[in-house]
Amino acid sequence: MNKIEPVLPDLSPELLQRFAAIVGDKYAVTDPNEIAPYLTEERMLYQGRSSLVLRPGTTAEVAAICKLANQTRTAIVPQGGNTGLVGGQTPHNGEVVVSLRRLDRIRDLDTQSNTVTCESGVVLQTIQERASEADRFFPLSLGAEGSCTIGGNLSTNAGGNTALAFGVARDLVIGLEVVLADGRILNALSKLKKDNTGYNLHNLFVGAEGTLGIITAAVLKLFPKPRAVETAFVGLKSPQDALALLGIARSEASNSVTSFELLPDIAIDFCVRHGEGIRAPLQERHSWYVLMELTSPGASLSETMETILSRGMEEGIVDDAAIAASLDQRRAFWTIRDFIPHAQKPEGGSIKHDVSVPVASVPEFLAKASAAVVALIPGCRPCPFGHLGDGNIHFNVSQPAGADKDAFLDRWHDMNEVVHGIVLAYGGSISAEHGIGFMKREELTHVKDPVALELMRTLKATLDPNGILNPGKVI
Ligand code: FAD
Repeated sequence: MNKIEPVLPDLSPELLQRFAAIVGDKYAVTDPNEIAPYLTEERMLYQGRSSLVLRPGTTAEVAAICKLANQTRTAIVPQGGNTGLVGGQTPHNGEVVVSLRRLDRIRDLDTQSNTVTCESGVVLQTIQERASEADRFFPLSLGAEGSCTIGGNLSTNAGGNTALAFGVARDLVIGLEVVLADGRILNALSKLKKDNTGYNLHNLFVGAEGTLGIITAAVLKLFPKPRAVETAFVGLKSPQDALALLGIARSEASNSVTSFELLPDIAIDFCVRHGEGIRAPLQERHSWYVLMELTSPGASLSETMETILSRGMEEGIVDDAAIAASLDQRRAFWTIRDFIPHAQKPEGGSIKHDVSVPVASVPEFLAKASAAVVALIPGCRPCPFGHLGDGNIHFNVSQPAGADKDAFLDRWHDMNEVVHGIVLAYGGSISAEHGIGFMKREELTHVKDPVALELMRTLKATLDPNGILNPGKVI
């Protein structure tokens, strides 16, 4: 379990006033009722404490906050959309929250360089929409896209539903503007694809979860807007068959396979039971499903999709499939996928693992991990789903039906240990896309290469010698 750091002393009224003066009283939140939403997150897994939330509106204000925090050794926690799933954005010990949401300007959209330069508080969906209006495509896509910010996406190196074709957040950023712990501003807002002038510094801050600097703006890559989109829901017998279908899809459609999501039947069951208006995607029930999407800026992909599915059926891999015939049907398919974590809630407690293993090992991993958790807690209900094409499975486990929720959740650590042990045996990762944050900091010290840990600590000490940036997270 993570060590609880000592609770920090309250800010003196004088220091609070100095911080407030930087952003103006209107944007220095001290009312506990207004602070409350910044202290907890959707799942209510963490409850933070803080007496001050600062809402800067410019990079210069962020820089002034960091400078004062560094001079006065005041711990700060950067926060974007507060959708993170590892407690990284929560002020667990009374730190000052620096909310970046007012940094919400798109500074430039360049359709010739195919870049968009935006501030870190811009909501992901807004970037997608602005790109689309300019006949371009920004591919990062995840369930929280309506409220997460690009600063949070970059700081967690978010993955999401299109990483298979377009990569993770790190692959989509060319340049960054970052405020360092001492208030200096690193201007690496380059639009250049080719720039071999020394170390790639901006990459350090991607995936650093706010522990090395505060991202204030980014230059992101844009792509041609897809003209052809084909989405299919496929019923199959096993994850092994799903993997074979992925092979067929990639041989027929290459990089046009944008998403390849695996779902077990129990997930469909939960969604149909608890999701208003959600219906099973296929007439009959199957043990496993794949939600597959092909996209291309060029010609129609309908024949390609049909070829993939026919080959799958001929080879005995695909039992049944439905191709979305309209935008509404495509949305209905994706609603099922995105609703799974919500559908688990009425089923009681759910212990979660955001893990990755080599793609080829996913079926074996699923079999072993499912057997191991049921042996640990008889009657528990594995509900593993996610980005099969990336080897990234959200190995969620629902409590036994009717069991005591708290008693089940008390076994969180034991179950993590069992599942992560199997993940590591396959050369996998205990955090595929959500990060380390507060949740997995202690565990990281046991599983990460010791030299890598040493380098991480050296970087932290160099860039944040006073330890003011998101203390108690990651490292
Ligand atoms: P926050 O939660 O506010 O912060 C996350 C971390 O980044 C914290 O450590 C914080 O300190 C730091 N941070 C935030 N902004 C900055 C900044 N400007 N500079 C420096 N540090 C900063 N994640 C995936 O990867 N893939 C998914 O498919 C996915 N699906 C999700 C679905 C749902 C329904 C939910 C609730 C979450 C999902 N997530 C997913 C997790 C989450 O949405 C991502 O981690 C997201 O990138 C966080 O963005 P945010 O703006 O909410 O960041």
